[in-house]
Amino acid sequence: MLENVNKHFGDLHVLRDINLTVNSGEVVVVIGPSGSGKSTLCRTINRLEPIDSGTITLDGQPLPAEGRGLARLRSDVGMVFQSFNLFAHKTVLQNVTLGPTKVLRMGRAEADKRGMELLDRVQIGNQADKYPAQLSGGQQQRVAIARALAMNPKVLLFDEPTSALDPEMVQEVLDVMTDLAGEGMTMVVVTHEMGFARRAANRVVFMADGQIVEENTPEEFFTNPRSERAQDFLSKIL
Ligand code: ATP
Ligand code: MG
Repeated sequence: MLENVNKHFGDLHVLRDINLTVNSGEVVVVIGPSGSGKSTLCRTINRLEPIDSGTITLDGQPLPAEGRGLARLRSDVGMVFQSFNLFAHKTVLQNVTLGPTKVLRMGRAEADKRGMELLDRVQIGNQADKYPAQLSGGQQQRVAIARALAMNPKVLLFDEPTSALDPEMVQEVLDVMTDLAGEGMTMVVVTHEMGFARRAANRVVFMADGQIVEENTPEEFFTNPRSERAQDFLSKIL
């Protein structure tokens, strides 16, 4: 939950009085023009970016700033990026088990077993011993999702997870995300995939110029956008 969150980059007021609650099991899709602050918003939620004012809480607890609490937070808030960010010199399975063994101190055998389950869940178990460069973009992104899930996060943040993919690979990643949503995973998803938003989102948040301009159910938002900014944005992308 974010309350009155403000952030500046120098003179640029990049997040303006952001108030946003994400309930357990909810899927919130964040959309908005380039530069509106969507990525910055995601990054503040796991403290990759400090904020200037306001509060962010997870399960009622303020985000820890450092030390063990911060490590805990980073495992509670999973993140999937546009550019996959897999470890190139580790195999697919090693990418997924690294966090559990190093951070959660899980034993090797258990981490491998759970890692394989997660890879199967994203339909990529048969690629476990390959290296990321040997996989397609869609496959790499599914590994990134499995890696995030391996930490048992309370919430998963996706920042344009399909934007770097070739068109034919977008759907396989969206399918995995739709399944996760259906299983009750709490998710914040920055995306321009309006089909996904319509199908999977409980709520759409529209950002422009660092502000949340509009927040509504996908049905209402897409058929009846209230603000001019949202109408204008939708007319360009739909
Ligand atoms: P896009 O759709 O292009 O990904 P976005 O909505 O994710 O855009 P942000 O990446 O959050 O937008 O950026 C918001 C604004 O903050 C932009 O004007 C950007 O140039 C600026 N910005 C982002 N990161 C930094 C930084 N580290 N230092 C300075 N300015 C930054
Ligand atoms: Mg962005």
